[in-house]
Amino acid sequence: MFHKLRCRGIATSNVCLMCNEDEETVNHLFLQCPFVRAIWLGSSLGIRTYFLVTNSVKQWVVSAIPNKEDSEDIRMLYLQSMFTILWSIWNHRNLVLHQGKVPNPKEVLLIAQSCICRYHQAFSMERVQNTSTRQQQGKTFTNYNWNIILKVAAYKNKKTKKSGAAFEALTMDGVSIFSGGNSCGRKQHYLALQDVVSEAIFKAKELGFHRILILSTSTKLDKLCNRNRKPVWSEKTFYTDIQKLSQQDVLVNHLLVPTVVNSHVLDLADITTSFPVHHCRMTSDYSHVT
Ligand SMILES: [Zn+2]
Repeated sequence: MFHKLRCRGIATSNVCLMCNEDEETVNHLFLQCPFVRAIWLGSSLGIRTYFLVTNSVKQWVVSAIPNKEDSEDIRMLYLQSMFTILWSIWNHRNLVLHQGKVPNPKEVLLIAQSCICRYHQAFSMERVQNTSTRQQQGKTFTNYNWNIILKVAAYKNKKTKKSGAAFEALTMDGVSIFSGGNSCGRKQHYLALQDVVSEAIFKAKELGFHRILILSTSTKLDKLCNRNRKPVWSEKTFYTDIQKLSQQDVLVNHLLVPTVVNSHVLDLADITTSFPVHHCRMTSDYSHVT
């Protein structure tokens, strides 16, 4: 692109917008930039691109696809994940260029993971029902400048029939701010999750955070928080809370993530089903609120 602009006499800098260190070539932007190396390594694919010797991104994609012994589904999902990450990097780079966004690898990762997760769900549903679910995937938001992440999970103990839920709040850089958990008795799993989300959101607001991103594995919660469907009666209190908050300029969004992202919060939720507890505590080394 820069080459074309320069050919037309338009002055451009071709320094990489993500790291501001090297020339922005295709190989650098998608594979070698320190910014994108962190994304590949942190993604569910866990790829190290630092030592790669390759002539082109295309060649790399072809060589990285799992071998033919793996099933067609695995190969397909792997390829889909790679393209989603490539797309997310490109999209983020354009937001930096056109909207002056500050490069944030964590955000690229979150968006890519959410898209991959949605795709995997749609893909498996499509196989079961043989119907297209693409329209149900909802819109993907890309530029809300979140300033806090709330990981939430609920757990139902099959033996005792008791449920519990937990949350952990993190800065966009992954620094823990506060965490908590509630025993919820015999409450339904999803209702326990709603309660804990409300509690965590109000705590975040109290601390001065106004752009809240919730991470969970619940598709129900995802659609509700992202206003992709109307609430049912048991969700009305929660939904009204979110709407009231948006009138006070507190934006709440949700990203669907794979279980592995929230596994330690799920462990916390599991613990709360063993004995009665209701607590929320600040992480001791966190003192700065953005
Ligand atoms: Zn770079």
